[in-house]
Amino acid sequence: MKKKTQLIHGGIVGDEHTGAVSVPIYQVSTYKQDKPGHHRGYEYSRTGNPTRYALEELIKDIEEGSRGFAFGSGMAALTAVMMLFNKGDHILLTDDVYGGSFRLMTKVFNRFGIEATFIDTSNLTNIEKAIKSNTKALFIESPTNPLLKITNIAGAAKIAKSKGLLTLVDNTFSTPYWQNPLTLGADIVLHSATKYIGGHSDVVAGLVVVKDEKLGESIHFIQNSTGGVLGPHDSWLLMRGLKTLGIRMEEHEKNTHQIVEFLTHHKDISKVYYPGLKKHANHEVAKRQSRGFGGMVSFEVESAEKAKKVVQNVKYFTLAESLGAVESLISIPALMTHASIPAVRRKELGISDGLIRISVGLEDAEDLINDLNHSLNY
Ligand SMILES: *Cc1c(COP(=O)(O)O)cnc(C)c1O
Repeated sequence: MKKKTQLIHGGIVGDEHTGAVSVPIYQVSTYKQDKPGHHRGYEYSRTGNPTRYALEELIKDIEEGSRGFAFGSGMAALTAVMMLFNKGDHILLTDDVYGGSFRLMTKVFNRFGIEATFIDTSNLTNIEKAIKSNTKALFIESPTNPLLKITNIAGAAKIAKSKGLLTLVDNTFSTPYWQNPLTLGADIVLHSATKYIGGHSDVVAGLVVVKDEKLGESIHFIQNSTGGVLGPHDSWLLMRGLKTLGIRMEEHEKNTHQIVEFLTHHKDISKVYYPGLKKHANHEVAKRQSRGFGGMVSFEVESAEKAKKVVQNVKYFTLAESLGAVESLISIPALMTHASIPAVRRKELGISDGLIRISVGLEDAEDLINDLNHSLNY
């Protein structure tokens, strides 16, 4: 089954009892037992809920894993995955991971004795060098935020496997429509489904898919024990979002290519970051491991002042954090998503004060380009 078909026919389709073509929203917490201890597959909705299960089956199919799990947010999903590890374990992470992931590792899990080191995984030799005797996992984000850095997932997973590490990939930016880390050798893939999977800026959710059954058992045990589950209505919203993920990503891609073409030729823009550009670092890797380059672009203008002017004068780009929805969004990482990172560290990472990030939406590309052009020349 091709991806667009899988998005619509994967998982559990419709309702057997009534013929309803959409999976019903089972807004329920508990289930009648036929005899004590004899239930019909569901006993309590933290453990399992039919609507959530339908979503979990769907994301499992799309990511080509053995089991899927839905959580109340991307961070709840990552929290559950990190609970696989023990006090004294060490985790390696991409250095410019999502800010919330950085915070979780350095301000929460550190208190439980789980140690984290952040390295530039876009260069594979850095991974090998950073592995210690207690390293248990490699956590990759590719492409990253906001510089769209690319890590060779298959190469990284190979190194991790040879040292007995699990490979975890945050696939939020690429989406399961363009990239499937489990087929590249990763063990666990995570999503902030709040972004492209939901796609309409109306739900906060997280998803996890594992490659093997045993890991699936462990994650289910943690999901049920710690309880960060996604509710039935939000599960249904994600299934609704997933049905159009394919056409949405194709359109995001088309719009983005036109916008990147415009940005690279604008005199006031010194640099454009987009994995689809031939000169983007690791462009060849991105081309090999993903079927598309996505709808996120960053570009540099001369100063913070100019950047502020641009974001305040656009009409169709909403000034907001987050990404991946039908409406175009614009932000200044140094002042917004990455403001909590010290200025020195931002400089090291290459995040200048004049860097602008856009999440290209599904508006007409010509309108978006005119809008950017007008605000750049303002
Ligand atoms: C938003 C985001 C997260 C966190 O997800 P929430 O749903 O906001 O909890 C994690 N990783 C990436 C790459 C994100 O963009």
